[in-house]
Amino acid sequence: MIIAVDGPAGSGKSTVAKIIASELDYLYIDTGAMYRAVTFTWLQLQELVPDVNIEEKLIPEKDIRRKILSEILGKHHEKALQLICENISIRFQNIENGILTFVNSIDVSPYIRSTIVTQNVSHIASYREVREYLVDEQRKIAEGTDVIMDGRDIGTVVFPNANLKVFLTASVETRAERRLKDLEKLGEKASFEELCAQLARRDHLDSTREESPLIKAEDATEINTDELSIIEVKDKILSCL
Ligand code: C5P
Repeated sequence: MIIAVDGPAGSGKSTVAKIIASELDYLYIDTGAMYRAVTFTWLQLQELVPDVNIEEKLIPEKDIRRKILSEILGKHHEKALQLICENISIRFQNIENGILTFVNSIDVSPYIRSTIVTQNVSHIASYREVREYLVDEQRKIAEGTDVIMDGRDIGTVVFPNANLKVFLTASVETRAERRLKDLEKLGEKASFEELCAQLARRDHLDSTREESPLIKAEDATEINTDELSIIEVKDKILSCL
């Protein structure tokens, strides 16, 4: 059984998908974390992530790191990203209060939600080389198991034959409010206006790109979560099963 949950950033996908996965004992896959992991690797190899110096651990082979950097310098970004994808493996590990994301043997969870990754991820996710690699990985992870997967293209591209497809929406203001609360919990400050602008920018990039844009699959059930609690969203999804 495959449940596909798509929608824009902050629409509540991952929160509800995690709850459903635990209730039904399904595997939960956060595909956004995979795009973030590739983006983090791309930035880190160029030493663009402030205060983090783990590029040698991410891809230990010096020759490969050099090759990737020379492709970036030569502005052959497609080739550089293809090399990154060929030289990393992304995996998840469930722990008591969450899920860790690994690139090769390195736990990248502390870095993939950083501002610099969030600012760059939609651009990196627009490359065909990255999408082909990750879609392939996503299909492999789901093989032979019940899975609930969230992202932007799960019902349209990754699993067009998913048993259930859900498309979550919410206004930019509601989504920015949610992000603000998440950040407050982490002790981080952000301005509401800035978050609205960031979300609108990411929505635009994600829904207008050529490769697998964010669109609702024709046969997906659309749920607007503006006025719903997370439990109400979960119940609505489960009632579609
Ligand atoms: O879900 P999250 O906000 O972590 O996703 C980060 C970004 O990764 C999205 O804004 C989008 O650009 C990209 N993404 C994607 N396809 C997916 C999941 C995420 O393009 N299936």
